[in-house]
Amino acid sequence: MTGYDVVLRGGRVLDPESGLDAVGDVAVSQGRVNKIGNALGPGRVEFSVTGHVVTAGFVDLHSHVSDVAGMRLRALDGVTTALELEAGASPVDRAYRRAASEGRPINYGFAASWTLARMEAVGGIKLDGRPDAVLANIGTPAWQGAASPGQVTAILSRLAADLADGALGIGLLLGYAPGTEPGEYLQVAALAAESRAPTYTHARDLVEMTQSTKIDGAEEIVRAAAETGAHMHYCHVNSTSLRHVDRVLDLVSRAQAAGSRVSVEAYPYGSGMTGIGAAFLAPDRLIERGLTPSDLTYAPTGEQVATEDRLRELRDADPGGLAIIRQLDEDDPADRELLLRPLLFADAIVASDAMPLTWSGPVPDQMRWPLPRGSFTHPRTAGTFSRALRLLAADDKLGLNETLRRCSLLPAQLLEGTVPALRRKGRLQPGCDADLVIFDPAAVSDRATYAASTRASTGIRHVLVNGSFVVRDGAIVTDALPGQPVRANPQ
Ligand SMILES: [Zn+2]
Repeated sequence: MTGYDVVLRGGRVLDPESGLDAVGDVAVSQGRVNKIGNALGPGRVEFSVTGHVVTAGFVDLHSHVSDVAGMRLRALDGVTTALELEAGASPVDRAYRRAASEGRPINYGFAASWTLARMEAVGGIKLDGRPDAVLANIGTPAWQGAASPGQVTAILSRLAADLADGALGIGLLLGYAPGTEPGEYLQVAALAAESRAPTYTHARDLVEMTQSTKIDGAEEIVRAAAETGAHMHYCHVNSTSLRHVDRVLDLVSRAQAAGSRVSVEAYPYGSGMTGIGAAFLAPDRLIERGLTPSDLTYAPTGEQVATEDRLRELRDADPGGLAIIRQLDEDDPADRELLLRPLLFADAIVASDAMPLTWSGPVPDQMRWPLPRGSFTHPRTAGTFSRALRLLAADDKLGLNETLRRCSLLPAQLLEGTVPALRRKGRLQPGCDADLVIFDPAAVSDRATYAASTRASTGIRHVLVNGSFVVRDGAIVTDALPGQPVRANPQ
């Protein structure tokens, strides 16, 4: 017996599942939590973490970051598993193989992509497995209309193939394809139910916003859960509900009370970000969200869009170019309260919608660290989880234990029916994967802003992924790529 691999001594050890909240030591061996207790034996690496919280790393269900550089920012925010579930990937096997061959600092995984399957079947767009294929084609009208029965069959068979290949459910960017018939959505939900896999939906527009919508976006999600029995996960209920969030959350509550499997996630920011060519950002549709062109900032240059004509130009020239969309005003107390409401909703999951890094100059090597100048993203990429802790962990909000449960345990539980290995994540117990975050509860905070969007969070002292340090003493370990795939077992 040469001792444990790592021992973290004297921290406040929190397990969101058992409710354990006690000062003690945590010992790690061979990538797993070995023992939790007092005065544990020696470790080859030891840290005193007195005054720090030791808990399960955060599991992010909604991350569009696909490179090492972006994932390091996520690790500095306490994230140990980042999953691309809303947009998904296709062919999913190619996405897993690319990540495995390049190496990733944190764990990763992908859902099947209704969006890409539809771009191929309805839009005639050739899928080449590029990670930015969704954004590159997001503004192309060809894939956004109604599908013929034959096209729906092609979409379903692509989804079934990716599910058989280990995809973590089915992601749908439904709100980006307003011509989709509600019947198609129900068929996708039925496939998910049959495959015992969750779906992750960016909802269609609400009736309050878009009177011409084929069906209310929130009604559509809960209806699919009731009719098919599928688990319907409602992505970023904050940003698609905006000022109608109470109506949407009431609807979700009633569906849950009636036995439907509907879950929600939210991120704690008032602005959104997406490709400037998105259907709902068309100049004549901004009014539906109470927006004007100047509420949009074109991220690659930082240009605030001045006029409808300029918006048209940018949409034509670079439809997948990222834009910040100012929706709720984080400086306004009433809006701040509104943006917290979905995060305080019963069992709401914290999820970031982290965006890829955009570069004003040439794209640097993804292994470069620190990040060279000229990078831009949404601050949620770097700050969601620290910000959630800052805003929600106070005792008059959710409290620390409940906030952590929403950052780690609930997202792991959402997936563990599909991926049994997730029973070893989102908890801090002997035998669990040593995906750990160690932070100073008095100091933890986001630092990324809309103007300085890639500033790493502070107060996160160590992050371990499968037992290896990815963040040590607040700094990235630049040669650490211990991330493992999260993948459903092929049938
Ligand atoms: Zn979305």
